[in-house]
Order: sequence, then C-alpha cells, then structure tokens
Amino acid sequence: MTEYDVIVIGGGAAGLMCAATAGQRGRRVAVLDHANKVGKKILMSGGGRCNFTNVNVTPEQFISRNPHFCISALRRYTPYDFLDLVHGYDLAYHEKTLGQLFCDHKSRDILDILLAECDKGGVEVRTRCAVETIEQRESGFTLTTTLGGIQCESLVIATGGLSIPTMGATGYGYRVAQQFGLPVTEREAALVPFTLSGHWLEIAQSLSGVSLPVTAECGDQRFAEALLFTHRGLSGPAVLQISNYWHTGEAVTIDLLPTESLEELLEQWRADGQKTTLKNRLSRYLPRRFVETWLELPLFPKAVREKPLAELSRKEMAALCDGFHRWQIVPPGTEGYRTAEVTRGGVDTDAVSSKTFEAKNVSGLYFVGEVLDVTGWLGGYNFQWAWASGYCAGQYV
Ligand SMILES: Cc1cc2nc3c(=O)[nH]c(=O)nc-3n(C[C@H](O)[C@H](O)[C@H](O)COP(=O)(O)OP(=O)(O)OC[C@H]3O[C@@H](n4cnc5c(N)ncnc54)[C@H](O)[C@@H]3O)c2cc1C
Repeated sequence: MTEYDVIVIGGGAAGLMCAATAGQRGRRVAVLDHANKVGKKILMSGGGRCNFTNVNVTPEQFISRNPHFCISALRRYTPYDFLDLVHGYDLAYHEKTLGQLFCDHKSRDILDILLAECDKGGVEVRTRCAVETIEQRESGFTLTTTLGGIQCESLVIATGGLSIPTMGATGYGYRVAQQFGLPVTEREAALVPFTLSGHWLEIAQSLSGVSLPVTAECGDQRFAEALLFTHRGLSGPAVLQISNYWHTGEAVTIDLLPTESLEELLEQWRADGQKTTLKNRLSRYLPRRFVETWLELPLFPKAVREKPLAELSRKEMAALCDGFHRWQIVPPGTEGYRTAEVTRGGVDTDAVSSKTFEAKNVSGLYFVGEVLDVTGWLGGYNFQWAWASGYCAGQYV
C-alpha cells in the first residue's frame, strides 16, 4: 500500500494545476491518469496553440445551475495570475481576438509549464493507471488501482467532462460523485456544431466551407462571431458559443448581415437608379457563393431574384430583410460528444464548497475543473476555470 497526502485522479488542466499547487505546499502528491499521457486536451486545444486564458474573464461567461459558485475562485486566481506563471517561463504568446490568449508556438508549451510546476512540487505523475475502487476510511481514502493499492488523506477528482472520448474522456468523475451521494446535474455536449437535416442540410452542404460574420441568438444570449457552413450543418465560433445555451427543440435566430441594415440598403439601391442585380449588390457585403444560394431559397418569392430593384414591393423587401437578418432555424441536434469542446452540467455545485472545492458531505473529497457543473464560453474561459478551480483546491487539499 503506497501512501500519499493527496491523490489527484485525472492529469488534465485542472488536475495538474491542483497537484502542482498542493505539491509546492509540501504535500506528497500523485496524479493518476488512465490514459497513456497526461494533458491530451491541452495538446489538442486552440488548434494546437492552446487558447490558455482570456483577459476579459468574468463570472457572466460561465454557465452553471448556481451562477455564483464560480465567482470566488475566478477572483482568487485570475488570468493575470496564470500570465505571471507563463511569464516566468518566457512563453511567447499573443492576443488573437476578444481577449483570447494563444501560445505563439504550440500547446505543448503550456503542458510543459504545468509539468515543470508539478516537478517543483515533487508530484508523481502516473499514467496508464485505472482506479478500480475507492473506499472512504476514518481519515482519508483507500484506492485499488491497476498499479496497486494506494492510501491518501485527500482525494481530488479532476477527470473532466465527456467530450472527445477518444482523448480519454470518461464519465468516471460523475460515478465517484454518485458513489459518495453528490448529485450530478443533467449533462449535454456543448461548444458543439449543430447538425441539420433535409433541405437545410442540402443548403449547408452546398455552402460547406463558406464562413461569414453573423450574430446568433438563443433565448436572451447573443454572440457576434463567425458562422461556418459544414457538410453536417453549422459550425464556427458563433454557433459553438450559442450551443452552450441551446436546448433540444429551441430555435436559433441568425442575422447573416449583422453590421448593415438591409432595409436601408434596399432603399438606397432603389434610389440610386443603377441597374445592377440584387445578387451583385449583396455580393459586395457577403460571399458571392452564399448570396447565390441564399437567394434561391423558398423563403423568398421567385420574383425577388429577377425583378429590377426599383420594382420590389414592400412585402418582398420585408421577406428579404427577414431572410437575411432573422433566419430562424430549429437544429435537429448537435454533433455530440464526438466533437464537443466541453460538457455542460456535471457535479452539482451546491454539494461542493466554492472556497475549498471539498464535497460538503464527504471530508477529504474534492472536485475541480470541467467535472463540475461550470461551463465557460469559447475563448480560453474553460482553461481559466480549470486553472482557478485547480489552484484554489490545491491550497486546501
Ligand atoms: C478539441 C478541444 C479544444 C479545446 N480548446 C480549448 C481552448 O483552446 N481553450 C479553452 O479554454 N478550452 C478549450 N477546450 C476545453 C478544455 O480542454 C477543457 O475544458 C479542459 O481541458 C478541462 O480541464 P479538466 O482538467 O477539467 O479536464 P481534462 O483536461 O479533460 O482532463 C481530464 C483528465 O482525466 C483523465 N481521466 C478521465 N477519466 C479517468 C479515469 N477514469 N481515471 C483516470 N484518469 C481519467 C483524462 O485522461 C484526462 O487526462 C478544448 C476542448 C477540446 C475537446
């Protein structure tokens, strides 16, 4: 039986941060991961350049049944704290857009920083280690694992969410929560592309690869970013962001020309007397391939496409404005956990201390990172949550 002060199950962003913090406090720490290497999601993140934080982080960019839960940790460990760490390793990075910070070189640099920090704290990292059973003792836990029996005082569950099972995601953390009587909220794939079917799928397929700036709206949330048509449906940052707020059966409204008023443009074009077509006029503002396909939609009377602009009726102009500014679609589904960046929902935050991350009903058991019911926007927010929750728990484990 090997003994540690702290065992962290899951060597991802939150687990490594928690282990390094606890190790540097002098705790004897081991990280157990069932995968063949740790930090796989860090390596694949941000298109290989890891969008490791966002300088505009506020609690409003996180979704949880209890929106107050994340406030304390986000205050105690801010993006600037992570930047201090990054500066200490002379990591070259840049701000891409909307406060999103990316590595100049590769995501591996972020993982190397975390592993170096773990090293400083004497943390042991054990891969290919599956935990078979967990039993609570009078003070601490006994684990049976494929690498033998382990005892620890504090046990941290940092096994992440369900997205990308091929990268090592499992529902293990939720099962541990249930074993110890913690409730788990409903989970769904989030930051995920929408699938389409029937006629709309054919349209998306014919436009596959076309990207344009839009606003996407669902409920009272609205995002102004790019939309990308794909051979399965809709993707791009605007769609991923709104998917965080979307529930099956709900409509999404998309403004395909968000920086212009088509109503005003049509008035101007009618007034200037030039004889170019609607298609040519719109192609100055939108990708031509998109305009050609869009004007063929049954949303618009056929006459609209062929009529001289000056002859458009008020009703036809209104149909055009609706079709470009208020395209409403009810996606039949999403691409699911296969491509989702995160899982919405998780271990109910009401059962966990927002200060220590310890389960309120089980002394010594902690939950950090994405396994909790806290989901961030696209743009470095989810890593910031992993760093903040991992760091704060690391102070107490
Ligand atoms: C393709 C992709 C790109 C992303 N890009 C970004 C980005 O640029 N910026 C951003 O902020 N967020 C991004 N995210 C989200 C971000 O990666 C996660 O929110 C974050 O990694 C969560 O950290 P975590 O430590 O909680 O979980 P994870 O990083 O998922 O780590 C969980 C760890 O637990 C291990 N594990 C799971 N089950 C077990 C088990 N039974 N036993 C032992 N170990 C187990 C896993 O192998 C893994 O190492 C991206 C996600 C994906 C999928």
